[in-house]
Amino acid sequence: MRKYVDVILPLPLPRTFTYSLPEDIVEEIEPGCRVVVPFGRKKYYTAIVHSIHSNAPTDYEVKEVTTILDPSPILLPKQFTFWKWLADYYLCTQGDVYKAALPSGMKIESETIVEYNPDFEADERLTDKEQLILDLLAGEPEQSVTYLEKASKIKNILNVVKALLDKEAIFVKEELRKTYKPKTEARVRLAEPVATEERIKSLFDELERAPKQLALLMKYIELSGFMGTKALKEVAKNELLQRSGASPAVFNGLVEKGIFEVYHHEVGRLKRQEIETVELNPLNDFQQQAHDKVVEQLQEKNVCLLHGVTSSGKTEIYIHLIAEAIRQGKQVLYLLPEIALTTQITERLKRVFGSRLGIYHSKFPDAERVEIWQKQLTEKGYDIILGVRSSIFLPFRDLGLIIVDEEHENTYKQQDPAPRYHARNAAIVLASLYGAKVLLGTATPSIETYYNATTGKYGLVELKERYKEIQLPEIVPVDIKELARKKRMTGQFSRLLLGEIKDALDKKEQVILFQNRRGFAPMIECRTCGWVPKCKNCDVSLTYHKKINQLTCHYCGYTIPLPRSCPACEGIEMINRGFGTEKIEDDIKLIFPEARVARMDLDTTRTRSAYEKIISDFEQAKTDILIGTQMVSKGLDFDHVSVVGILNADTMMNYPDFRAYERAFQLMAQVAGRAGRKNKRGKVILQTKSIDHPIIDQVIKNNYEEMVMNQLAERQMFHYPPYYRLVYVYLKNKNAALLEQMARVMAEKLRAVFGSRVWGPADPPVARVQLLYIKKIIVKVEVNAPMNRARDLLRQVQREMLMDERFKSLIVYYDVDPM
Ligand code: ADP
Ligand code: ZN
Ligand code: ZN
Repeated sequence: MRKYVDVILPLPLPRTFTYSLPEDIVEEIEPGCRVVVPFGRKKYYTAIVHSIHSNAPTDYEVKEVTTILDPSPILLPKQFTFWKWLADYYLCTQGDVYKAALPSGMKIESETIVEYNPDFEADERLTDKEQLILDLLAGEPEQSVTYLEKASKIKNILNVVKALLDKEAIFVKEELRKTYKPKTEARVRLAEPVATEERIKSLFDELERAPKQLALLMKYIELSGFMGTKALKEVAKNELLQRSGASPAVFNGLVEKGIFEVYHHEVGRLKRQEIETVELNPLNDFQQQAHDKVVEQLQEKNVCLLHGVTSSGKTEIYIHLIAEAIRQGKQVLYLLPEIALTTQITERLKRVFGSRLGIYHSKFPDAERVEIWQKQLTEKGYDIILGVRSSIFLPFRDLGLIIVDEEHENTYKQQDPAPRYHARNAAIVLASLYGAKVLLGTATPSIETYYNATTGKYGLVELKERYKEIQLPEIVPVDIKELARKKRMTGQFSRLLLGEIKDALDKKEQVILFQNRRGFAPMIECRTCGWVPKCKNCDVSLTYHKKINQLTCHYCGYTIPLPRSCPACEGIEMINRGFGTEKIEDDIKLIFPEARVARMDLDTTRTRSAYEKIISDFEQAKTDILIGTQMVSKGLDFDHVSVVGILNADTMMNYPDFRAYERAFQLMAQVAGRAGRKNKRGKVILQTKSIDHPIIDQVIKNNYEEMVMNQLAERQMFHYPPYYRLVYVYLKNKNAALLEQMARVMAEKLRAVFGSRVWGPADPPVARVQLLYIKKIIVKVEVNAPMNRARDLLRQVQREMLMDERFKSLIVYYDVDPM
């Protein structure tokens, strides 16, 4: 009987698709295997087999699977369940989840290859560019577009390619290419007829007149431990050449004589060197108590919050819990919000767990991520995976514990594209599938988590003593509104802050200056008329990058050179408005020319090595002042920081979002926690224009509980989490007027089912991106209401909208539990 597979395609499709299996390969396939299938016109995708059956689809003509890629599943049954939960809960498709989950090396890409048409005869003159492309193809009849672009140096080559296609001078060929190639190593062995002891002995005589070859052969025998007819060890060609000092010519001589044979062996990219490990640090009394309480809480509850002040040694407690879990043969997933943190934590964990630790994050080469995935499928998977949010998608054999470090961080939430999941919340679901436990750790819990912990849903353990009982820093507020009025500010710095920086530098201590990123995009403005350059595709002002003297859109990448004069008034003075970290760096260098200054923000940390260098330079005191955004607040552990400057608290507090105060508190408390870790009490200079704001007082007193109580009262009153669950419904369309109408109709339909729980439509902060206009509708559902039902209703309304002839071009997507 004919067999069929239902597959998940890496596309935002609401359902699986059915393909037939070629008859000769039926037995080999299982759910979770990858297959290549044709979809749409001439496109090929890597799909994942969801199920196997014998029901031919009746509503469309079934196509055949092109290739089967895996002999055994790369996706385990629990992962299927997890994918399904993610797609349901976050109102997206399993195809969206698939795209986010797998490293790209496991999703074969179809790269466009163009082919020369040998029968082509031009009946009109070709342009120079067209001729150039054809000349290139004459040399090599099949080329990728990427290659042609490079070789011809033509920009916007697709236009030229398209023109040639229209003239049928070339064809497009879709070729499947495996992006992941296993790395191989050339190894050496004795050719079969040679591989006996007697034969080798006679070879020694024969090679007497080729002493170099003889020496090389002896070296091989030594390295391989050859005995009788067998080598004890495999020998890499490189190693052999190196150790013997022989030239490749000598080596080739032995190959030609039929003595050596070269073969290729697949080797992993993952470094497998054994690492010397050290004993765990013993916990101090406070830590031991907290540890024991966590263990006790997790016997009863699946999730526990460890609320411990900065530098209390939470990481040490995690390390003990990890050691206990792996002793029981369980695996551990350690989640971090940001790769900036992985360097420091990696080192601490490596010291204890050595090669049992695997690290997984997006700035690793894709091939390495593929290997980790493959390794996790085997019995020899890592005992501990340390990673950022995407590591929740890895396969696990027997997960026992998930640690979510800095659980309050909003980078755990994926913003774009779908699935817009929250890795902390998803991790809790993932753990429940394995019967594993979850420990959430932070000095400043998110309000939702704290609420869950104080209402008994999660366990709660508090740790209020810093390790070695170092005091929390002294926080000194400075009223910069008043100072600005009296003209007593130097740029963005109060005298107090500059004085503290100077003192620190004199004492060879370090300084961190923190500037919130949000609300302070560095913009250019015309001094005369106030004109601000905007993106032509998106409703946002362009960000100024001084190094390259260009303006860039952070949404679509649109880039233009800085205009010489204002297009509105022809004024020639463009000023740098707002103050980004770049500006602060310039100013600080002017004020303290002798100081060594580094900047850590999105621009300076595009690569992993850039991150690591900034952090390690600062750790080794090669830098005196570190200027940064959010990134410097994140749990980094430095020893010689005596002063932290918060340049402007107000941008955090005034951000138009119901979480603004919570975040402002968290950020300030975290960044303050970087001061005075090991040697002495640190000082934090907190510059603000709202000196009387309760949040400022709460930060100074480190009064987390009071902040939460105030916020909870407001959240309840205004229908926000944790009392209500929010779903943002986004609508997108090219046509502004049509979108208005769509949004109005959809909001009406939603009101018909959700009543007063619906807000909007309204314009989001950025109301146009990549030529599409955007509207936003907010739905607020009581937390104890059945969410399944709410999701069904939302999907129902969406279907009704799309069935309306007028609204066919509408794009709808959701952000569930937005951050
Ligand atoms: P947290 O994660 O709570 O911010 P850490 O675990 O990073 O705190 O601890 C802060 C510093 O104190 C680190 O440098 C850590 O090595 C040290 N430390 C904490 N607890 C211990 C311990 N029990 N033994 C040795 N060093 C410790
Ligand atoms: Zn743009
Ligand atoms: Zn102007």
